[in-house]
Amino acid sequence: IHEKIAALPPNANYFSLEFFPPKTAQGFANLHARLERMAHSLRPLFVNVTWGAGGSTSDKSLALAELTQRSLGLTTCLHLTCTNMSRKLVDEALEKAKKLGIRNILALRGDPPRSEEYRDDSIPGADEDDSNKDFTWAVDLVKYIRKQYGDYFCVGVAGYPEGHSDQSHPEHQSVEHDLPYLVEKTKAGADFIMTQLFYDVNAFVRYEKTLREHESGVFKTIPIIPGLMPVQSYQILRRTTKLSHANLPEDILRRLDEVKGDDDAVKRVGVDILSEMVETMKTAAPGPGPKGFHFYTLNLEKAVAKILERTNLIPPYKHTVLGADKIAGVEQAI
Ligand code: FAD
Repeated sequence: IHEKIAALPPNANYFSLEFFPPKTAQGFANLHARLERMAHSLRPLFVNVTWGAGGSTSDKSLALAELTQRSLGLTTCLHLTCTNMSRKLVDEALEKAKKLGIRNILALRGDPPRSEEYRDDSIPGADEDDSNKDFTWAVDLVKYIRKQYGDYFCVGVAGYPEGHSDQSHPEHQSVEHDLPYLVEKTKAGADFIMTQLFYDVNAFVRYEKTLREHESGVFKTIPIIPGLMPVQSYQILRRTTKLSHANLPEDILRRLDEVKGDDDAVKRVGVDILSEMVETMKTAAPGPGPKGFHFYTLNLEKAVAKILERTNLIPPYKHTVLGADKIAGVEQAI
């Protein structure tokens, strides 16, 4: 991923799309068809496949990553968490990823480590050894990947423009509190930072500035990719922003409140809002290189496609594995 980003012109924009593995075979088949369409019509620079905390989705995540990387030829970034998971499971995931030709891992902590008495033996490998004590924070996984695989994997880490919250800390952690740990993760070998979702563009712009100007100097050129979640429904928006402690700026809340009884209107206004956010960031948060945008798709297609079209993020069709008839169809669809 970092090499693909570096190969773009310095003022270029790019985007990535995130998917989670569906639970059922039918859900998987539906996503397969949708991914094929999205791969050809939207052409993301890369796609992300999520990982269930503790390894709960390991087989399904790897199956989805195999589909995106191998069958669809999309540069894939596999998420991998490290807490509450045996080292064996971490090793198997990394080996399998390598065999599939995957070169990118988003190294995450996942849920806070459970103490011994709360250890869940239903999680694969949890009862086999206590090697999961090797992994307390995401930085432990970054170091482990570098130790085992050198530079084979491009490694991404998570950033939090509005601070971080979870059950391990009674209080919300501020950006300032989080920063030394992000420095540590970056020094340990991270190649890019991908952020938690947010709707407060000013918070992201402040965050990026803080990082770029940080005295450690480690964030000067590293890609910092903002995480954006298209508005799929009023309820989902309220739930996800509450869970992630993302601020909903008054103006955005007012525009959505005005139409909250009308699902189609919520989606329409959501596309307007996200498109405006992207346009603002293109100019207000210019990075030292190409500027990327990461979309949490929730496996849905329409809203993100509209935002990408509106903001001219879809790259021209250059490299094709499709027949000419299909290309014509794709171009029409765009
Ligand atoms: P860390 O970097 O380890 O930080 C966790 C917290 O601990 C922070 O508050 C930090 O300040 C603090 N901390 C870090 N190091 C230390 C230290 N040495 N001493 C004291 N405190 C420390 N979760 C999933 O389960 N699956 C996914 O696929 C997934 N994808 C994600 C994608 C993105 C882009 C993001 C932003 C998050 C994702 N998450 C996912 C959620 C993530 O696992 C949680 O937010 C988790 O609580 C923290 O993970 P981290 O990698 O940021 O952890």
